[in-house]
Amino acid sequence: MSFSIVITNWFRLLLPLILMVFIGLGIDNVIDLTRANLGIVSHLPFVLLAIAILLGHIFKQSRIAMVASALCVAYWLIQARLQTPLSSGTTILELSLLAGLLPIALVLVYSYKDSNLFSRSFIVYGAIIVMLLLWSYVTLTYFYEGGFDNINETYLYVLPQVSKLPFILVIYSLAMVLISAICVLNRNQIIDVVVYSATLLSSTTFVFFDVAYISSTLFSLIGILLLIYLLSASYELAFMDTLTEIPGRLALESDLKHLGRRFTIAMLDIDHFKSFNDTYGHDTGDDVLKLVATKLKQVSGKAKVYRYGGEEFTILFKGKTAAQAKEHLESLRAAIESYDMVLRNQDKRPKSNKQGSKIRGGGENTNHVNVTISIGVADSSESRKVSVVLKSADSALYKAKQSGRNQVCLA
Ligand code: GH3
Ligand code: MG
Ligand code: MG
Repeated sequence: MSFSIVITNWFRLLLPLILMVFIGLGIDNVIDLTRANLGIVSHLPFVLLAIAILLGHIFKQSRIAMVASALCVAYWLIQARLQTPLSSGTTILELSLLAGLLPIALVLVYSYKDSNLFSRSFIVYGAIIVMLLLWSYVTLTYFYEGGFDNINETYLYVLPQVSKLPFILVIYSLAMVLISAICVLNRNQIIDVVVYSATLLSSTTFVFFDVAYISSTLFSLIGILLLIYLLSASYELAFMDTLTEIPGRLALESDLKHLGRRFTIAMLDIDHFKSFNDTYGHDTGDDVLKLVATKLKQVSGKAKVYRYGGEEFTILFKGKTAAQAKEHLESLRAAIESYDMVLRNQDKRPKSNKQGSKIRGGGENTNHVNVTISIGVADSSESRKVSVVLKSADSALYKAKQSGRNQVCLA
C-alpha cells in the first residue's frame, strides 16, 4: 500500500472504526485475555499514553501530547473512581461528568500551536485540565449536599436499551464524534484525526461502559493509534510540501520507484514568475503558488501532482501514454489561464505598467491576477528509465518556453 492511500481522509476516518469493529467481534477473546493478564493489560493504556506524551515532546507535536495527557487523566479516573456498579453512589454522575468534559478537553487542543512540552501552551492546557477536575469535584460536593433536585430523572435519564450512560450524553457523544469526523473529511490534518480517534474511542468506552474491560481495551487502542499518528505526522512533515500542502520532492522520488510499464511525466513551470514576485511581492507570490497548486490538484485523468521545487510542479500519469495525458494537461493549462486569482492584499498591485506587462493584472478597480503555465511531457515509450523520461520532459518544457510559453509540448 502506498503512503498516499494511508493519508486519505476516508482511510483515516475508517481505520479506528474498523479496528473497533474487530475488537467488538472478538470481545470474548479480549475479555479472556485481559482477565488472564489483568495486571499488565490494565496498565497498558498508561504505558502507551506516556510514550505518546514523550514522543509528542521529542517530535514537537505538543497537541498530540495534550490529547494523550487528557486521556491519561481520564483513564486514571476510570480506574480510580469508576470501578463500582453504575447504580451505586455517584458513579453515574462521575461517569457523566467525564463523558461530558473529555470531548471538550480534546477539542481545546485546537486553540494551541504545536511545540514541545516546555512551552507555555502545554502548561496552560494542564492548568485547564486541573480546573475541569476541580469543577467536577465542586459539582460532586454540591450533589452530596443535596444541591440537585431530581437530577437522575431529568438530566441523567437513562434509556437502558440504548446505553447505561444517560441518554442525553449518548446524543452528545454522537454529535461530538460526528463533528470531529467532519473535520477529518474536510481538513484531514493529523490533529483532526487525533481528536476524532480519541473522541470516538473514549465516547464508545463511556456508552458501552458496562462491557467488561472496555476501558483498558479501547484506551490501549487509542494509545497505539496516537503512536501511529505521531510517526505519520513526522513522515508527512518530510513528504508534504508545507506551503502548497501537496506532496513534495521526496514523495515524488518515492513514487517514481513504484511505476509500472507505462507512465507519463509532465513538468510544469509557472511563466514569468520572477517578474510576478518583483511586481507583487514574495508573499503574494506564495499565495499564488498555493492557488495554482489547488487548481493543479483538480487535474483529470487520475494523475498525481507534486511540487518539484520553487514554481515548478510535476504531474505523474500511471498507465497512460503522453498522447493520452495530453488532453488532461491541455484542459489544466486552459483552466489555469482563465483562473482569476483574487489577491488578499490590494496594495500589492503592479507598481508600474511596465512591471505588470508580462502578467495580466486586473484593471484599476479589480484585485485579481492571472498566471499561465508551460508544460513539457514525456512518456515511457522511449525509455523506461525514470531519469531519462524526466530529462525528456524537462527538454519539452524548455521547448514550450521557447515557443512562447502557456502551452503543452510533447517530447
Ligand atoms: P519562466 O519560467 O517563464 O522562464 O520565467 P520565471 O521568471 O518563472 O523563471 P525563473 O525560474 O527564473 O524564476 C523562478 C522564480 O520563482 C524565482 C523565484 O523568485 C520564484 N520562486 C521560487 N520559489 C518560490 C516560492 O516558494 N515563493 C515565491 N513567492 N516565489 C518563488
Ligand atoms: Mg522555473
Ligand atoms: Mg517559471
